[in-house]
Amino acid sequence: MKKEEIIRPGVVEPPPVLHRTEHFNAVEKQDYKVNILLVDDHISKIIAHQAVLAELNENIITARDGRGALECLLKDDFAVILLDVNMPELNGFELAAMIRERPRFQHTPIIFLTAYNTGDLDKLKGYNIGAVDYLYLPVVPEVLKAKVKTFVDLARQQMVIKRQAAFLEENNRRQQEQIRIIQDLNSQLRIANEELETFSYSVSHDLRSPLRAMQGYSQALLEDWGDKLDSEASDYLNRISKSARRMDGLIQDILAYTRVSRMLLNTHAIDLETLLNDIIRDNLSLREFETHFIIQSPLHRVVGHEGCLTQCFSNLLENAVKFMRKETTPRVVISTTSENSKVRIWIEDNGIGIDPSHHSRIFQMFGRVYAENQYDGTGIGLSIVKKAAERMGGSVGVESIFGQGSRFWIDLPQAN
Ligand code: ADP
Repeated sequence: MKKEEIIRPGVVEPPPVLHRTEHFNAVEKQDYKVNILLVDDHISKIIAHQAVLAELNENIITARDGRGALECLLKDDFAVILLDVNMPELNGFELAAMIRERPRFQHTPIIFLTAYNTGDLDKLKGYNIGAVDYLYLPVVPEVLKAKVKTFVDLARQQMVIKRQAAFLEENNRRQQEQIRIIQDLNSQLRIANEELETFSYSVSHDLRSPLRAMQGYSQALLEDWGDKLDSEASDYLNRISKSARRMDGLIQDILAYTRVSRMLLNTHAIDLETLLNDIIRDNLSLREFETHFIIQSPLHRVVGHEGCLTQCFSNLLENAVKFMRKETTPRVVISTTSENSKVRIWIEDNGIGIDPSHHSRIFQMFGRVYAENQYDGTGIGLSIVKKAAERMGGSVGVESIFGQGSRFWIDLPQAN
């Protein structure tokens, strides 16, 4: 199957979050213009006012009467409307009253242009027109420009606020969508993990009995028929038995990993000294070598799960005595330090050490540094330690330099 044909069910691309700068640059740099509506029945006045306002560099739209103005209002939004009061048919006040009837223009600023001493402003009181301003004709260019500019700036600010609100709303919606997708993926992943763990647990479990049979029968053959077999046949049988043993070890480690991943954990205060002394006394593989185990009492008490901790310490101590130069007597020192309600448990050996370039890899499944014929093992032990520590709310790590021993540590919550 070609790569592009692979379909991953259930994986949905989340919408990208918008970037504020891109979105607002145009608005904040004032790259866009607002509309100004100029209504007057005298073309000469329109031309004069247009010339004054041209310096503001906005869109100026003109109308010669009330009808024309209403048509313009149907098409566009306006930052400000300039109305001549004295127009035939529909005067400025009547037109303003009609404009205000439309919800979209209830708050649009209107500036009336009126002749001085005409009593127009008294008439204005008869209309309930809201936010308005006025200028006497003939207008002083600087005053006209300043007044219109105030409204233009206000409109632009309102536009920025509106856009910011829309931007935040859209980003909010996208983030909600991303959270929903992540939650979906997480639950799909959790289910898939649980299924995989159940599957590997039962497969591993069922694999062990035929393997044991293989191991048992090859051993029986060697013991009961060994003297009748030539050396080549005995060698083959030994290899079968060794491979079966190795595979059994692998299966046992996979089972331990899934057990640690699946088991219900009730954590409580643990006395590390008692636990470690028990492990050192009872673990047969630790007694294969003449190892000096030194527990630097007193050890801090931790909150953990006894089964998980037993698994962690067994693996770390077995490694500490295993990865050793032949001529060296293993020496393992166990100590604790505590900081901010956390206890760090140190397991220090005088073994072969690990080059820092391998430190993160060794905690991964099958993350071995050496070939199997150099040091026995499956490469699963430290991933079990990591999983167990994380399930107890802790973490693991190592400090080591090749040739100078290793200091593995586990961090766990401190018990009171
Ligand atoms: P295994 O011991 O079965 O190989 P682990 O997961 O326990 O697998 O360890 C992974 C690798 O980390 C080992 O193969 C080894 O290379 C390295 N390692 C672990 N513990 C030590 C140690 N105490 N000293 C040196 N190397 C170690």
